[in-house]
Amino acid sequence: MVGTEDGPRLLHVYGLTPCGTSHFAKVGTALEIFEAIAKHEHDELVFWSDVSAGYRGLIAIHDTTLGPALGGIRFWDYPSEAEAIIDVLRLARGMTYKAAITGLALGGGKSVIVGDNHTTDREAIFRAHGRAIESLGGRYIAAEDVGTSVDDMEYVHGETQWVAGLRGGSGDPSPITAFGVYRGIKACARFRYGDDSLEGKHVVVQGLGHVGYHLCKLLDVEGARLSVSDIEEDRVRKAVTEFGAMAVAADEVYGVAADIFAPCAMGAVINDDTVGMLKVDIVAGSANNQLAETRHGQALHERGIVYAPDYVINAGGLCNVYGELQGWTAEQGREKAGGIYDNLLQTLEHAKEEDIPTNQAADRVARQRLHEAGRARHP
Ligand code: NAD
Repeated sequence: MVGTEDGPRLLHVYGLTPCGTSHFAKVGTALEIFEAIAKHEHDELVFWSDVSAGYRGLIAIHDTTLGPALGGIRFWDYPSEAEAIIDVLRLARGMTYKAAITGLALGGGKSVIVGDNHTTDREAIFRAHGRAIESLGGRYIAAEDVGTSVDDMEYVHGETQWVAGLRGGSGDPSPITAFGVYRGIKACARFRYGDDSLEGKHVVVQGLGHVGYHLCKLLDVEGARLSVSDIEEDRVRKAVTEFGAMAVAADEVYGVAADIFAPCAMGAVINDDTVGMLKVDIVAGSANNQLAETRHGQALHERGIVYAPDYVINAGGLCNVYGELQGWTAEQGREKAGGIYDNLLQTLEHAKEEDIPTNQAADRVARQRLHEAGRARHP
């Protein structure tokens, strides 16, 4: 288990409001929160609130064996506080594994701000979050995630140096993420077909946002045949016009007979309802937490479908941010993201040798790297 040798887990509950009351009073008993932290193998979970700023935030530090915990700030209107807690814990753990398997000297963390991310009153909220980050003294480094922008990171930067993805920094990570996914799809093709050319391969891309669109571009240049789906019609029209892609309705995307399915929209798309519908050889895309549950990796394995574990194939953006922290050139960041090809191929080979699902193989490799680094730190 990750980090269990390092001693007790910490839980801080902070209230920044003058009366010191937390907005998270409804969450339940402390015992349930401790159970959630233990279940997700965490080092630390910090709660913050600032009523005058309209701010409620959580910062989760999963593991710092390899370096400071880096992860984006997600701004989302969670239906319940418990869901915000589980989300931040899951996402932070994913960041630890992503950095470990990619060979980056980073730990895993994530933060969430609970609320409507369409608000225009952002400065006070992100400054409050910046103060919370500052209090952790560099153990957590923030970046952009769903619902946040470069402008928001600039507000955070007004209160702390522990934030990446600033203006003049590494910029939008999506093109590099797409490049990493493209390299990962080629690795899957080599593993499945013995040849990594995607020319003539039929790829179904779900989600034509920042990553999906750039991925389509790369696949089109290589001569892949594209089917695309998005809930935003204009995005579908653009892909049809630019890449000659075939449009697929959002609810029909899982049943398209093709070579490769690339989920680039939301998480949990491989679930009890969809796994039996798939008519592809490979599932490989950018979306985080693609498997609704770990057992869905087993289901793909049993069906003979090659699954590219999400945190292995979508690490390009993290390479980009890491490069910013290290002062790398854009080319160095891209080169590191290109290494996803070998990383993924090794993971797939390991899964084949052991006859285990690829998501399990990825977890094993990431844990092994953490274990070795932990031993090197505390011989
Ligand atoms: P985005 O918000 O720009 O794009 C998501 C797209 O998916 C949107 O066009 C949206 O309309 C579409 N969509 C939503 N629900 C859909 C559905 N049911 N069917 C079809 N389309 C649907 O997000 P993004 O930055 O492109 O990221 C895509 C995924 O990749 C997310 O899961 C994200 O967490 C993950 N990811 C992104 C990066 C990055 O660098 N941007 C890095 C790692 C992982």
